[in-house]
Amino acid sequence: MRTLVIDHPLVTHKLTALRDAATDTATFRSLTDELVTLLAYEATREMRVEPVSVETPVGTARGVKLARPVPLIVPVLRAGIGMLDGMTRLLPMADVGFVGLRRDEESLIASTYANRLPTDLTGRDTFVLDPMLATGGTLATVIGVLAERGAASVTAICLLAAPEGLRYLEESYADGAGPWVRVVTAAVDERLNDRGYIVPGLGDAGDRLFGQI
Ligand code: URA
Repeated sequence: MRTLVIDHPLVTHKLTALRDAATDTATFRSLTDELVTLLAYEATREMRVEPVSVETPVGTARGVKLARPVPLIVPVLRAGIGMLDGMTRLLPMADVGFVGLRRDEESLIASTYANRLPTDLTGRDTFVLDPMLATGGTLATVIGVLAERGAASVTAICLLAAPEGLRYLEESYADGAGPWVRVVTAAVDERLNDRGYIVPGLGDAGDRLFGQI
């Protein structure tokens, strides 16, 4: 597994505003959207392409187009939905599947309550959207489902990651078996607290995007 931390002044600027407890919901949503597009630019750097030629008004130009099958974007409900527009802006041709996971507040173990994914993902690049990589349990479950269905690669785009979660995923995918796994994030924070929140983090991403329900 590889981890890519995007070290860019615009990314850090937007992330800092996102962390601020005084940032209101509307601003939080638009900052998330902008930040995801910036992360997606790096996350798609190794996408498969095919050579093509096009006729310009003055000659022939060699270029590329994205290879088939088209990628699959998988926002993890609920907070991942807040990242979807920022991702499809860069990949408008991608398909979108959905998974819903709920974390038990005591055990911190994630269980699946919704799954709307293609049954066959053979040869497909997949992009999982989950703003907070905390214990890594949610992401490991989603990667497991995508791997079982034959995904060629899984790139998780996370606004923030905790060292504990990255370690857990690194141990889980150390043997190189299964799909090619990568995490792209704006920052790796200090640690998790005893309630499984990232410190200093930004709080509950779902609540900050959509309100407390
Ligand atoms: N989920 C969140 O929304 N925030 C955290 O800090 C950890 C998990």
